[in-house]
Amino acid sequence: MTQSHVAVVAFPFSSHAGALFSLARAMSSLAPSSHFSFLSTKQSLASLSSQQLLSNISLVPISDGVTSPDHVPSHIEAIELFLKSFKDSLREGLKAAELAQGCKVRCIVSDLFVWLTADVADEMAIKWVPVRTGAPLDLYARLHADLIREVIGVGDEAIRSYGDKLLSFLPCLSSHRAIDIPKGINTGDLNFIYYMICDRMARRLLDSDVLVSNTIQGLDPILDSYFQDKFPNYFPVGPFYLFNSSQNEPPNDTYGCLSWLDQHDQATVAYVSLGTIAFILPSELASLAKGLEASNVPFLWSLKEEAQNLLPSGFIDRMNETGKGKIVPWTPQISVLKHPAVGAFVSHCGWNSVLESIVGGVPLVCRPFFGDQTINARSISFVWKFGVSMDEEGFTQKGVVRAFDVVFNREEGEKMRNKVHELQEMVIASVGENGSSRENLKRLLKNVCGC
Ligand code: UDP
Repeated sequence: MTQSHVAVVAFPFSSHAGALFSLARAMSSLAPSSHFSFLSTKQSLASLSSQQLLSNISLVPISDGVTSPDHVPSHIEAIELFLKSFKDSLREGLKAAELAQGCKVRCIVSDLFVWLTADVADEMAIKWVPVRTGAPLDLYARLHADLIREVIGVGDEAIRSYGDKLLSFLPCLSSHRAIDIPKGINTGDLNFIYYMICDRMARRLLDSDVLVSNTIQGLDPILDSYFQDKFPNYFPVGPFYLFNSSQNEPPNDTYGCLSWLDQHDQATVAYVSLGTIAFILPSELASLAKGLEASNVPFLWSLKEEAQNLLPSGFIDRMNETGKGKIVPWTPQISVLKHPAVGAFVSHCGWNSVLESIVGGVPLVCRPFFGDQTINARSISFVWKFGVSMDEEGFTQKGVVRAFDVVFNREEGEKMRNKVHELQEMVIASVGENGSSRENLKRLLKNVCGC
């Protein structure tokens, strides 16, 4: 008999669903007598379902809110449509899950980005378990949005006049500057859908006594204390993906990235990836390409085909001919970062990439764009000190060459490598036997989910 039936609800865009799916798989393996129904849109489930599943987890499609099959919405419109119909879609999905399992859902674990789940859980009088898949420090900033607006003001001018002063009025951000505050708090179009989601989710979270986070106890001790005080049931259980045994299976390496890396010496290659939704301008993309070409460091670059078309003419051919660079639309990033040849990661600093870089023991070259990326980049270069940041203007030819010189040739780069190895040890230990993330996950399953 099923001990508990837990629904896990994804936000089906960018890297969110993949991260939550890793958590669902980890939960299903630690609670074999319970059942886990993973709800997301058909399209997002299709991108996950190639991974092997335990028998106590099932995939349940919910509507994406697109009413006509001929209509192909833009990324932003797709999010709007999904959220508009979300509560109805979720109610239907939960009914289908209960019917399929023959038992009621006991609690709903959801990505915090679909904070509306809380209303549906309330209607059903069951527990809502919000999960932060992105950086916890970004969430901390969002929880203090009103205070930030009050102290610093709103708009680019307010940020400029605050200058390089540290945010000492916020204990967990006392090493960060106004410019590191994520957009959508006091800069940017506050009605932009991503910013609106971040604002609403933070406000809704204040009603919850539970928070699950894709982070590791001890990575940011002051932040640990803050969340422990704020949420009586706080569970840092990251990195979610490290729990999965499938990461030991041979990776899906369609473009031969790993065999290309095999041809290089230890810590000599730069890996470049700006995540699943990049907002880089063609001119900056060209500067990055020029910097990579001008440096003496071989590189592996994950770049979607449509962006490859924007590269300077002849660049890809030259890189192929000389063997200096390999440009592919997708890499098995987790395995790439664990490969001994990789010595630096040029990244937008999305939270999954940050965790994967720590686990791989690879220093970062940071070029943040939006969301939690700015705050992460500052933590990496200034607090944890295992990376270097591009200047405010972003990628320039000189900037890339300079950053590689620091990371690959200088003593400072060696220090970064040592620092990231220290963190790597701590993070890997957290999911091992008696590790903090593993123990926290067991507590979550037992105390909150009834597994
Ligand atoms: N990723 C990958 N191969 C690629 C590019 C990205 O496997 O070629 C994965 C990467 O391992 C990470 C995710 O996509 O898990 C990106 O998540 P992140 O939070 O870093 O950035 P986002 O895409 O959310 O901006």
